[in-house]
Amino acid sequence: LPLDIMIKNRDKRALVLVNPAGGAGKAYRLVMEYVVGVWSEAEFQYHIVLTEYAGHAHNYVKSLELNEWNGIVVASGDGLVYEVINGLMSRNDWQAALKLPIGHLPCGSGNAFITSIVRHSGRPIAASVEQFVVQSAILIATHQVIPFDMAVIDMCDGQRVFSFLSISWGVVADVDYESEKYRFLGETRFTIEAVKNIIRPRFYDGYIDYLPYDTTDGTIQMNYTTSDLAITKIHQHLLPINEPIPIDRATSKWRRIEGPFASVLITSKSAISKDAISTPQSTLTDGYLTLQLIRFDSSIRMNLTKAFTKLPEGKHFDCDFVESMRIRAFRVVPLGTTGNLMIDGERVPYNSIQGEILPSIGLCMGK
Ligand code: ADP
Ligand code: MG
Repeated sequence: LPLDIMIKNRDKRALVLVNPAGGAGKAYRLVMEYVVGVWSEAEFQYHIVLTEYAGHAHNYVKSLELNEWNGIVVASGDGLVYEVINGLMSRNDWQAALKLPIGHLPCGSGNAFITSIVRHSGRPIAASVEQFVVQSAILIATHQVIPFDMAVIDMCDGQRVFSFLSISWGVVADVDYESEKYRFLGETRFTIEAVKNIIRPRFYDGYIDYLPYDTTDGTIQMNYTTSDLAITKIHQHLLPINEPIPIDRATSKWRRIEGPFASVLITSKSAISKDAISTPQSTLTDGYLTLQLIRFDSSIRMNLTKAFTKLPEGKHFDCDFVESMRIRAFRVVPLGTTGNLMIDGERVPYNSIQGEILPSIGLCMGK
């Protein structure tokens, strides 16, 4: 079980980043109406900054004076959490920066991070948007901190980023990306695009190389806090992305799955949005990534209909057409030039990407 660590320095304030464009533009109102009252009652100290442009939160935390704060709270969707995590990871002192716990108020259209945190605590998620915001504000004000897993991701252009939620290729990526234009509908945006994709299922050619997770491997846990670990050396299993991965069964532990696929999803949390529990059994600190895929075959429309109907409860995971496995590392190689590949809801170039689990590297406000 992860240890609960109380936030030190209760006298310091939490930095609260509010995205006025988050969700249906409701983030600021939700904070004013449902959060500040709870926090003043709990004597939770904070300072609000409104983000002014996409990328502002990334830049802001990149040059943040760490000693002045006891945490960072994001009032938006997962997109702003992604900016904060990657802003912190881009610092030379990223090891110190990661000690600032991250809190999430569900004020966006995709709120998978706080959904996964609340599920982990064993409590039911509040039904309405407003109640969910209050529930999260209370959780944050308890000053408790728990670790969470992330994944390091390499892209073909040499860029290295950090994922805290999911890597999607195929139908989940299509629904996520193509529903952006319906942001004003909140989470309903995902349903509309899901229906479109069931009517017209797409075919994804390519393959996935993966390193299975094996509890008996005895791999030494990475100690992220030792000396000045360079961000370029944080992985243990990944090869340079242009080098082929050996998949010979006699000499290598890596395995290959060939497409075509309808859906490929790699997660480190239980939720991909409030109403989509992708990996129901996941804790925040599994120590592995969960790969789940749906092959493209003659029953694909029926299978996608079933999967999307069961996704809100996570029941798709028990369907026999959903293949799943625990993995340490992966390389996704799409063939063809058009399609969507998403990391934590952010679209990335449609090309090979690879990644590896970073167990318990992050800290979040939850319990
Ligand atoms: P949602 O779940 O509603 O998509 P996100 O947190 O993902 O909420 O935010 C959506 C995007 O808004 C993010 O990519 C973020 O960079 C961007 N953003 C942040 N601040 C602003 C701003 N002031 N104006 C426009 N976009 C912004
Ligand atoms: Mg978003």
